Amino acid sequence: MRLLIIEDEPRTADYLQQGLRENGYVVDCAYTGTDGLHLARQHSYDLVILDVNLPELDGWGVLQRLRAESSTRIMMLTAHGRLADRVKGLDLGADDYLLKPFEFPELLARIRSLLRRNDQHLQPDTLKVADLELDPGRHRAWRGGQRIDLTAKEFTLLHLLMRQSGEVLSRTQIISLVWDMNFDCDTNVVEVSIRRLRAKIDDPFDNKLIHTLRGVGYVLEART
Ligand code: CA
Repeated sequence: MRLLIIEDEPRTADYLQQGLRENGYVVDCAYTGTDGLHLARQHSYDLVILDVNLPELDGWGVLQRLRAESSTRIMMLTAHGRLADRVKGLDLGADDYLLKPFEFPELLARIRSLLRRNDQHLQPDTLKVADLELDPGRHRAWRGGQRIDLTAKEFTLLHLLMRQSGEVLSRTQIISLVWDMNFDCDTNVVEVSIRRLRAKIDDPFDNKLIHTLRGVGYVLEART
């Protein structure tokens, strides 16, 4: 699960980022509305945690623009307890609203609830390439009807390769989409992860689906 925090107060941003990472989320941070919007357009986030008072473009502006172009879940965060603000946020399409200061367990519970709603309402379709199937909603993968156990990173990587099936993805692209921004850019990690993924989804089968384009990157497709 990949989350984006858009929050200009460094202490709150750090606190959120650290706590959410400890709870197993991949977390990116932006400190202005403009940067946040930019990141949200670049990556596909499961949830955006959006502060209202932000420099450059404020939270309302970010919310309106994001809502116009994607169905990503958005949780507004604000110090204002005013009912008008809450109504405005919900009217503009925010999925939830949390007042500062908040207790971390409450934030986690709200996030889990929003992400569950994601699964139920958006019902992501099962992806299929040859006899390989992936169900993003239930976080499961099968090959030839056989269930395949994947780690969270392997699942994210396979999901990406299947979504873009037939398109070549460079190591740099893969890193930016599967690991968070602050990840030390060692492209070797991609090779290692691809190798592990192959051992599970390709090695036991005759028809290989993940292909290496030397010096370019990787592509997942059925070749007959
Ligand atoms: Ca703020």
